[in-house]
Amino acid sequence: MEQYDILIIGAGPAGMTAAIYGQRAGYRTLILEEAVLGGQIANTPEVENYPAVGKISGVELGMNLYNQVLEQGAQVEFDGVVSAQLAGPLKTLTTQSGKVYTARAVIIANGAKRRKLGIPGEEAYAGRGVSYCATCDGGFFKGKSTVVVGGGNTALEDALYLANLCTQVHLIHRRDTFRGGKVLVDAVLARENIQVHYDTVPVEVVSADGQKVSGLTVRNVKTGAQELLEAQGVFVAVGLAPDNQLFAGQIELDPAGYIAAGEDCKTNLEGVFAAGDTRTKTVRQIVTAAGDGAVAAAEAGNYLMRQ
Ligand code: NAP
Repeated sequence: MEQYDILIIGAGPAGMTAAIYGQRAGYRTLILEEAVLGGQIANTPEVENYPAVGKISGVELGMNLYNQVLEQGAQVEFDGVVSAQLAGPLKTLTTQSGKVYTARAVIIANGAKRRKLGIPGEEAYAGRGVSYCATCDGGFFKGKSTVVVGGGNTALEDALYLANLCTQVHLIHRRDTFRGGKVLVDAVLARENIQVHYDTVPVEVVSADGQKVSGLTVRNVKTGAQELLEAQGVFVAVGLAPDNQLFAGQIELDPAGYIAAGEDCKTNLEGVFAAGDTRTKTVRQIVTAAGDGAVAAAEAGNYLMRQ
């Protein structure tokens, strides 16, 4: 059993910022990360709205944060948390590898996951043409045709990223106005090899050979007309969903499944804080996640001082 002052779940911008602040305040801090460094930003080709940084790839921003975490003396273990005992003064986290960690404060910064479409063929062809990460998988579709589903900033960014690699990109959105920002919308509309299909929803992922994706059947919601968009890749970018089942029953969640914590990042349990995309909030951006990380670490410090 290893003991720390603050345990952080998740090495995205929220968790890594919390580690920098926690360790700098003199608390022995460890981050436990189940997958990749950076969380959602690892899937972001270009970040242009993080203050003072200018244009940077999500991977590079994540690496910079990681190096800063290590420079401050905080630790990072790539080992997912499989169970959490969060009530009472001493919290316990158990990881995939069977290690047990304890601390008096826990910051949950596990982010959110990409939402699924729930249409026929999606699950069957996941990894065989259906993808949830354009920057991870886009390279497999060089010189091919792809479809991006969604109308938010992620879908717009994914379409632009794929347009640099693919002969044609179909962008399908269920309404006639995008949710994403004007800069990205204008960039998408200016690209000749991106074909936008408004008022269009996905119906079924199709495979001609039963092995890999050959297209996506879509339906126009206004006319009811169905068509098959021929494509080798289908990129799903229909938003994020929380992944907080692990904490259900201990930590109060909102009706959508996000952790019910306000701007002070405090949860219903003493000594447990939530930072970044995982908590109830209106603006989910890298800078707001980092802001949460600082707040959660400061609140954790205040809590530890009172113990
Ligand atoms: P989002 O903003 O929630 O957008 C999800 C999109 O998917 C919406 O257009 C939505 O349509 C559509 N959608 C949802 N469910 C669908 C379904 N079942 N079938 C078809 N379409 C569906 O999610 P996101 O784009 O992943 O972005 C998440 C957050 O990260 C947002 O706050 C976003 O601003 C932020 N982000 C920011 C940047 C940036 O600033 N550069 C980049 C990426 C992400 P409706 O519009 O009709 O609801």
